Amino acid sequence: MSARQVSERQQDMQQDYGQRKIRTNSEPPGREVLRHVSVTLIVAAILATIFTAWTPASLSPGEIAGQLVAALDTDPAGPSASVAEPGTSIEDRALRVGIVIGHLGPNPSTGADDPGSICSDGLTELEVNREIGMRTAAALEAAGFEVDVLEEFDDRLFEYRAVALVSIHADSCLPINDLATGYKVASALDTVVPDRAQRLVDCIVDRYARATDMNFHAGSITRDMTEYHSFREIHSQTPAAIIEAGFLYLDRDFLTSNPGKAARGIADGVLCYVNNEPASIP
Ligand SMILES: [Zn+2]
Repeated sequence: MSARQVSERQQDMQQDYGQRKIRTNSEPPGREVLRHVSVTLIVAAILATIFTAWTPASLSPGEIAGQLVAALDTDPAGPSASVAEPGTSIEDRALRVGIVIGHLGPNPSTGADDPGSICSDGLTELEVNREIGMRTAAALEAAGFEVDVLEEFDDRLFEYRAVALVSIHADSCLPINDLATGYKVASALDTVVPDRAQRLVDCIVDRYARATDMNFHAGSITRDMTEYHSFREIHSQTPAAIIEAGFLYLDRDFLTSNPGKAARGIADGVLCYVNNEPASIP
């Protein structure tokens, strides 16, 4: 309810009260006082509700500073840097991050589910992506972000706006060779925010290495990664990155027994980007 609606409501109540006062002229003064008190209590209750609703989410000064930095780092056309409407403040509006669980949901061209890479014993890339993705989303929510967990072909990806979008995948289970280990991170080739997308990539590369002790597999980033379909559907101002969190072949033990470490690396990468922290590529 807006302040104006409240004052109209008060006027209504006062009119109502006035009419009833005329009708009840003969009432003893004690009842009139009671009615005064009850009108006052109703107005107080409405105002208390409004002020409770306005109380900003509790954020530490560091978190607020981080959100402010992120807002400043975002293009004015972006959602998080839009001028606050009267009555709202920046800390009321949590920053939005999108997490795509690679291969989740049906493929619209076939209508069938696509589990991604499949190992001979039935372990699928989708299972690994989901374990890491859900933990990443939880970690970012705990850090105060508004997180959208998205399917590979999610309708919400069309013109999707967020401070960052990360798509989580894992690499092949085929016994290619001894080099089939390590992680890869890439941004879109045709982004209109290449500086921000590259910083998001640098941050994830740096923080993922710290959290997992895995090697950055820079040599085999494919066009599949950089021309990833979600990157074309999303809003052009949304910086996006795709991570291949490791190979199902040689990194399988790590990916299946330490999804929390992988998630920590990705979430820390997003925080590094949003908070404008330094990042170095190994
Ligand atoms: Zn994949």
